[in-house]
Amino acid sequence: MSANMDETVSVGYEAWADALRSDRILGVSCSDCGATYGTPISVCHDCGSRNLESVDLPTEGTLYSVTRVEVPPTGFEGPYHVGIVQVGAARVTARIETDADDAPPEIDDSVVFSGVMETDDGLPAPVFTTETS
Ligand SMILES: [Zn+2]
Repeated sequence: MSANMDETVSVGYEAWADALRSDRILGVSCSDCGATYGTPISVCHDCGSRNLESVDLPTEGTLYSVTRVEVPPTGFEGPYHVGIVQVGAARVTARIETDADDAPPEIDDSVVFSGVMETDDGLPAPVFTTETS
């Protein structure tokens, strides 16, 4: 192990969760191939590098995909929407909220990071809300 390897900055789950609760979305960028991820990783999924650094991701993005959960897990009220949001170069899985029930979120909708929901096992998940035009 060289000293250089110890300087590698990576985002652990706790740091990621703490940032979310502080209205920041942390991503991980690979210093070797440039791939960016919206969730904590320890190894680049593209090239296998451990040369990763944390980056702040934008808090506005567009819906890359969205699905409606008709039957929620125990402890949740449904139906609700879960989607993948493109924020900068990364994608983040998030709960998707809308202002109006009669306007379900659609792919390519603009969304903004609007908060955090705590799941029943104590793990936070980002919430994005569709922007009303
Ligand atoms: Zn990489």
